[in-house]
Amino acid sequence: MSTHPPSRYGITRDELAEALADQPRYRLDQVWDGWYGQLRPTSDLTTLPKALRSRLDDLLPTALAPVTRSVSDDGDTTKFLWRLHDGATVETVLMLYPDRATVCVSTQAGCAMACGFCATGQAGFERHLHVGEIVEQVIVAAQLAAVATTPRRVSNIVFMGMGEPLANYDNTWSAVERLNGDVGISARHLTVSTVGIVPGIRRLALEALPVNLAVSLHAANDDLRNELVPINRRYPLAVLAEACRDYLAVKNRRLSFEWAMIDGVNDRDSDAAELAAYARALRAHVNLIPLNPTPGYPTVGSSPQRVRAFRDRLVDAGVNATIRANRGTEIDAACGQLSTRHGDALSASPVVLAPTRPVSLTD
Ligand code: SAH
Repeated sequence: MSTHPPSRYGITRDELAEALADQPRYRLDQVWDGWYGQLRPTSDLTTLPKALRSRLDDLLPTALAPVTRSVSDDGDTTKFLWRLHDGATVETVLMLYPDRATVCVSTQAGCAMACGFCATGQAGFERHLHVGEIVEQVIVAAQLAAVATTPRRVSNIVFMGMGEPLANYDNTWSAVERLNGDVGISARHLTVSTVGIVPGIRRLALEALPVNLAVSLHAANDDLRNELVPINRRYPLAVLAEACRDYLAVKNRRLSFEWAMIDGVNDRDSDAAELAAYARALRAHVNLIPLNPTPGYPTVGSSPQRVRAFRDRLVDAGVNATIRANRGTEIDAACGQLSTRHGDALSASPVVLAPTRPVSLTD
């Protein structure tokens, strides 16, 4: 989108080459490797002349101004709240595991999909994120993971933060290519999650990189899904299954379904039977997530016993199903809890950071 000011991780390598046309040719590699290979800010690239560093900093500032950082799970989950150049705010979650780190990135400020049980959906849509705003979320999270007590490399990216990735297709896909090609994250460790935007899934199938596809299903009959995930009225389950089938046929990747378990709504035996039939036909893996609480949705998550019984039913019916551990629930960083409308009222007294640079970069 042309209205975005240039930013460090938004510029393409070719555009940077142009901006460095007056420099020796090896400078391009030094800058690019410094930003992406070594994850260093421009000011730390001491192989560059000082004047060039400050020129690059002026020309290509970072896109994310830190607002707060909240930590939970004994330091293993960090939620970042960022302010963008126009005042929009988004969140990113870093999850550390013993041997790896996963970053959950946002692709939009807000979301237009209006799923009632999701905090981002409740808040409504603000705007698409630009590629630089998406990529920078990973870079900053990776910088933090690298200095953890046990340093980790970011190995997995899930496009499961705020927004609907396939409704911001071009920027999401540019970010995927940048994360794969320049940050070095393999396609099978990149997962794009969607509410089921069928034309987006069909476009994904045409791309060269075989990323994982996750579909937020939550219901396997159209009546209930129309209610829970309103986009189902446009792309009903049969059409969605067809697009998933075609994706699998060309990509040979695992398809997964996300299913937030809502007490008395989609956790009944009949729901398990419908889901089992739908998932089995696509050999999909099912991730069960007990519904996380959000301010605008009265219903609660299923009990742990119910979640386990539901999982057992799926497994008995021949479906691969796992219960997903909830990360970051107490800092509202868990699935469906990302909403910056209540950014000032985070429950876990976040670290408040002073912005490191002026909020407005539109000069
Ligand atoms: N819009 C995309 C990307 C967001 S992923 C998508 O929907 O797939 C966020 C995941 O959290 C989705 O699977 C979403 O359905 C799920 N989710 C939303 N609200 C939730 C809640 N309150 N509890 C648990 N999961 C939730």
